[in-house]
Amino acid sequence: MNFFSYKDGIYSAEDVPLDRLAEEVGTPFYCYSSATLERHYRIFSQALPADSLIAFSVKANGNLGVLKTLGRMGAGADVVSGGELKKARAAGIAADKIVFSGVGKTKEEMQLALAEGIFQFNVESEPELDALNAVALAMGKQAPVTLRINPDVDAKTHAKITTGTSETKFGIPFAHAREAYGTAAKLKGIAIVGIDVHIGSQITDLAPFEAAFRRVGELAQTLRADGHAITRLDLGGGLGVPYIEDNQPPPDPAAYGAMVTRVTKGLDCRLIFEPGRLIAANAGVLVTRVIYVKRGDAKTFLIVDAGMNDLIRPALYDSHHEIVPLREPVPGADRVTYDVVGPVCETSDLFAGARALPELKPGDLVAIQSAGAYGAVMASSYNARPPAAEVLVRGPEWAIVRARLTHEQLIAQDHIPDWLVG
Ligand SMILES: *Cc1c(COP(=O)(O)O)cnc(C)c1O
Repeated sequence: MNFFSYKDGIYSAEDVPLDRLAEEVGTPFYCYSSATLERHYRIFSQALPADSLIAFSVKANGNLGVLKTLGRMGAGADVVSGGELKKARAAGIAADKIVFSGVGKTKEEMQLALAEGIFQFNVESEPELDALNAVALAMGKQAPVTLRINPDVDAKTHAKITTGTSETKFGIPFAHAREAYGTAAKLKGIAIVGIDVHIGSQITDLAPFEAAFRRVGELAQTLRADGHAITRLDLGGGLGVPYIEDNQPPPDPAAYGAMVTRVTKGLDCRLIFEPGRLIAANAGVLVTRVIYVKRGDAKTFLIVDAGMNDLIRPALYDSHHEIVPLREPVPGADRVTYDVVGPVCETSDLFAGARALPELKPGDLVAIQSAGAYGAVMASSYNARPPAAEVLVRGPEWAIVRARLTHEQLIAQDHIPDWLVG
């Protein structure tokens, strides 16, 4: 459930009509709903053991306004770069609620994270373990570490967001886990604290999660028998969300929580979760204006002012996003089949193919739904297009939480070398 709906005939975020925001902010813009972020966080956290750490995956939506909203609810952060670590801190999230994931942490990022005193490093390889050990020893510190184990479970999701099979770059193969923990235990700069797993994203079935968590549970027992102090299990993120209202819904957080509780029963570990999409996807929309309606021989194109540089998911993952007109259609209104496309000079700049929508005219506004996760964070300025602005709504209030760059600001990022001046 989310807090976007028609009010007095206009699609609104909580109490704010989105056409008014379009007038004030210009299009395209992302709009996030605080009440939706809070609701999703609350429902997820209530489904899990009370002492769990819920570390919001900053890569899903790193806007400071969003991070601060969640931080105030008690969320920690799962970061995958030094930049995300600094953003989480800038949003007021305590270092001891931050976990650091990712396959390519640099020594500088490790230094930063150790200096901040983060909760744990999720280490993904033996070379990374050696590097972290060296950095920690040089700083006179010990790094709290889980090893990310690749359980070789197929999450049955889109190939580009599957991470838990032996074909992907993520984690340490399950069969090598004992050896890797043995190596880690000998390193004085490393303090083993637990096990980490993350098998992918937009997972809509509990079975792959359960298979992965069972393997982690068994491994915890084996590692304890080997003498390691396993006190934490980081179970990653990945719970899917409905992108289409009337589709088979993904498992609800309560069912996920019940499964987790059952599978981890008796292990006596603190649990850590890294949800991203579940919290943020349906808490955001991308509002865009129709520029032209172009009738081709085979198709009718709705050309809008947002492009793949603003929202790349359809091009990258073939993802489905529902599209709704901001002006509420009259019941039973005729539908027209459109290809909804952006202005970017790429054939893949397509938000929706053959989509039946009420008839739209140039100047009309539409909202592309489920755009709150992996939307603005992946934006670029391809085609010298300033990425969409971002707005956060809270009840009747709203604020621009990231302004659109002007063309001049965008151009000022480039520098002409001396030898070309004059
Ligand atoms: C991307 C990612 C997440 C978040 O995944 P969602 O599907 O958005 O919940 C969590 N943990 C790690 C390690 C990730 O890479």
